[in-house]
Amino acid sequence: MSNIAVYPGSFDPITMGHVDIINRISPLYDEVIVLVAQSSQKTSMFTPEERKVLIEKSLSHLKNVKVDLFDGLTVEYMKKVNAQVIVRGLRAVVDFEYEMTMAQINKKIAPQVETLLVFASPEYYYISSRGVKELAINGGALNGFVSDVVKEAMAQKLKK
Ligand code: ADP
Repeated sequence: MSNIAVYPGSFDPITMGHVDIINRISPLYDEVIVLVAQSSQKTSMFTPEERKVLIEKSLSHLKNVKVDLFDGLTVEYMKKVNAQVIVRGLRAVVDFEYEMTMAQINKKIAPQVETLLVFASPEYYYISSRGVKELAINGGALNGFVSDVVKEAMAQKLKK
C-alpha cells in the first residue's frame, strides 16, 4: 500500500510558504497530493483551474507531487484515493485554534485519517496568499514571496 499525504487549501495563489511545506514533506511520502478547494468561501483572484496550473508549474521539480481539484470534504477525497495523512501548515499562534478544531472534526468523522501539522520555516512564516495579493494590488515587489510563474500570472490578472 502506498503512503499518500494530502495537502488541502485554497492556494489563491500558491506562495513560497506553501512550496516550502511541500518541499519538506515530499521526501516523507510515496505521493503528495495538493488539493485545491473548489468551493472556498473566500473571494478568489484565480479560478481553481488556474490555481492548479500555477501549483503544477511551481512544483515541477518534485516528481511525487500531483495536484487535484475537489469540491467537498477533504476526508471524502482521502477515502477516494486511499490516503492516510492530511498535511497543514502552521504559522503564528492564530493558525493554531482553527487547525486544531479542523483536525478534531476530521478525527471524529474519519478516525483512520491523521492530521500532520508542519511548522512554517522562519523565513516564510509571515507569508500568506492574502498578504501576497495585497502586496501585488498595491504595486509591491513579490520576489521571494511567490515563484516567478505566479508573479507573472498576478501581473497579468491585475492588468485586466
Ligand atoms: P486555507 O484557506 O485552507 O487556509 P491556504 O491556501 O491559505 O488555504 O493555506 C493552506 C495551508 O497552508 C494551511 O494549512 C495554511 O496554514 C498553510 N500555509 C499558508 N501559508 C503558509 C506559510 N507561509 N508557511 C507555512 N504554511 C502555510
